[in-house]
Amino acid sequence: MPTVREIEQRLFALAPRDGAIEWDNVGQLLGDPEQEISRVLVALDITEAVADEAIAQGCKLIVSHHPVMNCKWLPVQSVRSDTPQGHLLLKLLRNGVSAICMHTNLDVAKGGVNDCLAEALELIDPGPLGDPEGLCRMGTLPAPMPLAEFAAFVCRALGANGVRYAGANRPVQRVAVGGGACGEYEAAAMAAGCDTFVTSDLSYHQFLDAEGKGINLIDAGHFPTEDPVCARLITHLTEQFPELSVTKSASHREVIQYYVKGV
Ligand SMILES: [Zn+2]
Repeated sequence: MPTVREIEQRLFALAPRDGAIEWDNVGQLLGDPEQEISRVLVALDITEAVADEAIAQGCKLIVSHHPVMNCKWLPVQSVRSDTPQGHLLLKLLRNGVSAICMHTNLDVAKGGVNDCLAEALELIDPGPLGDPEGLCRMGTLPAPMPLAEFAAFVCRALGANGVRYAGANRPVQRVAVGGGACGEYEAAAMAAGCDTFVTSDLSYHQFLDAEGKGINLIDAGHFPTEDPVCARLITHLTEQFPELSVTKSASHREVIQYYVKGV
């Protein structure tokens, strides 16, 4: 059976470490590199429920997209059972569960988060958007589509609970995508001649200004825009290590619900 170190190496073959943004924290973040692994759980995030699921299924390794510790939004100064993060980390360590996290290196990777998102939205000829970090992709639809119709398609294609959208109401054909919080690349999408940008975590002011800028914005949610990469991680691990049992977390889903007036 492969060790955590060997699995990490093959994951870095898919998404090289040097692709990560400098503030990021990727690779094996928890556990013993020499631990032999037979079962792997794949999840977008390592939540308490995902940790419980791994323990219940005898998975000694969790492979996630978002780092479980020490990145931009999750600094670790202590590991104490009376904090939510400390409680989670202690649970993983006490149960001998290792963690490998592939974050912005997987966003930029060929076949990574953004290629999976472009594929899920059935974009034709997806390629780099030309944003400074190299994260986003762009592609086209076979025929122009009204914005509301495309928003409904995005919602269905990503299995989202809802999407928020606004903008210039231009017909949708040339589409930029950025999985997760890629709102800062709106200007790159416009510079590339895209009429529509699909991403998540957009602000009120971005929506407000979209019409004047002449771009359609669709916020399809952080989880729905990134989750498609989990299937790619599972395929990659299964190809690399046919003896491994690799499953996707059943407990980690979109947490955001939408109430829509009048529906
Ligand atoms: Zn993300």
